Amino acid sequence: MSDRHHPLHDADPSEPSGELIGSQAGVPPLFPTPELLAELADQSQKLESATPEAILGWAVTRFGDKFTMATAFGPEGMIILEMLSRVSPKTWVFNLDTGYQFEETLALRNRVAELYGIEVELLQPELTVVEYETLHGGPLYKNNPTKCCGDRKLAVLRKAALGMHAWASAIRRDQSPDRAQAPIVGWDKKFHLVKVSPLANWTKKQVWDRIVKSNIPYNPLHDAGYTSIGCKPCTRAVFAGEDERAGRWSGTGKTECGLHTQD
Ligand code: SF4
Repeated sequence: MSDRHHPLHDADPSEPSGELIGSQAGVPPLFPTPELLAELADQSQKLESATPEAILGWAVTRFGDKFTMATAFGPEGMIILEMLSRVSPKTWVFNLDTGYQFEETLALRNRVAELYGIEVELLQPELTVVEYETLHGGPLYKNNPTKCCGDRKLAVLRKAALGMHAWASAIRRDQSPDRAQAPIVGWDKKFHLVKVSPLANWTKKQVWDRIVKSNIPYNPLHDAGYTSIGCKPCTRAVFAGEDERAGRWSGTGKTECGLHTQD
């Protein structure tokens, strides 16, 4: 068993956590007071020109073992994992293992462990895919992807976030209009955590240059036209000229799973 795991896994599961979310359940709890929000805004400004390693270093110093990261092993996430292996290899990192991920994605979990010594924990929803599809009379991703993402990603993330203070995200501002305003450091009111985005101001080119320069492994599906990779049934390759996230939930009007939106 890895020594990197959610601090609350050691807690007595019979103890009720009430309706607390994210950092409200931390010991000590963390609340978005005017002082904290001012600190985050000030820090975000200062870190605009910092390296991603320096941003991660600030987050680890500020939040200690209550700083975590969720990864889907995208190119940006792989870069952050490589950086974390140098800056703070004991950071607890997890993957939202919906049961619908590509084999190529899951294979990266072991590569990360071998190369960087970070044992990414795969967190599964309560119901297996078979149980879930039986309950709903078939796969929900076809007709109700919002509920499917809610049950198989967001609920799992909410549980993982319980008691943590901050999380790293691998989003970039130039990925989509939804992400264009992302600060380096800000308050994530949806999950009640400080959100740290060390690559927010990086470009796609910078990401791929770093992957090549540092020989960082990446999902081989990127070489087959998949620019953004989520669950298998909800991801397709993109065509020339399309937005890089156009292959996600294509044709449904849905653009985000809800992890990085505030509604
Ligand atoms: S991306 Fe698709 S399969 Fe994965 S959780 Fe969301 S709707 Fe379900």
